[in-house]
Amino acid sequence: MSDPAHPPVKGDLARRLARVHERIRDAGGDPARVTVLAVTKGVAASRVADALELGLTDVGESYVQELADKADELDASWGERSSAAVARPRWHFIGRLQRNKVRVAAPYVQLWQSVDRLSLAAEVARRAPGAPVLVQVNVAGEAQQGGCPPERVAAVVEGCRDLGLEVRGLMAIGARGAPDVVRASFRTVRALADGLGLPERSMGMSGDLELAVAEGSTMVRVGSDLFGPRRVERVVGN
Ligand SMILES: *Cc1c(COP(=O)(O)O)cnc(C)c1O
Repeated sequence: MSDPAHPPVKGDLARRLARVHERIRDAGGDPARVTVLAVTKGVAASRVADALELGLTDVGESYVQELADKADELDASWGERSSAAVARPRWHFIGRLQRNKVRVAAPYVQLWQSVDRLSLAAEVARRAPGAPVLVQVNVAGEAQQGGCPPERVAAVVEGCRDLGLEVRGLMAIGARGAPDVVRASFRTVRALADGLGLPERSMGMSGDLELAVAEGSTMVRVGSDLFGPRRVERVVGN
């Protein structure tokens, strides 16, 4: 049955998602085990609904107000827009997070992926006690990106646990550069996660997901290769 609202767009999304799954397989990953997180910053709520109907369940946002507005919009039109079989999205927060925004985000976020310092962890623990988190590690060494330096990861993980948070794993944005440089940065994340016994490794985006999967990514965060280029490109992770 065709969707009169925007048939080509949704078909396009289905094709793009199939392509992402194929890339995961080609990189040696099992698409049933590597979660595709649909990164929907700059993407309208109606397109998020399309993604959910195609079977995506996990949605990532980088800006607190955008997340809250979109989640509310989706929620308000849920009954009319989505069939009963479609599950509600699980929202992940993947952007740089200010402590004073945690309160607004807390009712929506199911996985906090960008916890990188204990002052922030303390606020998450206060507003969302026991919440699952990933600790973001800055393996690229780029100052404008979030994440704690690799040598701080163990301490941040331990501090999160002391605060009662459930640390599921690590998140990282790969280094930029030649494939071997990028891949080495993912290998660092994997080694850190292995050393700490953490199962989840959120790494790999549109441009480098093969390299991340080859290094054991359990979750790739894909925006532009699903939804097309963003009109306004802000600093990744900012
Ligand atoms: C925007 C963003 C992504 C997705 O980037 P694409 O290149 O569009 O796939 C993934 N992770 C983080 C932290 C982001 O900010």
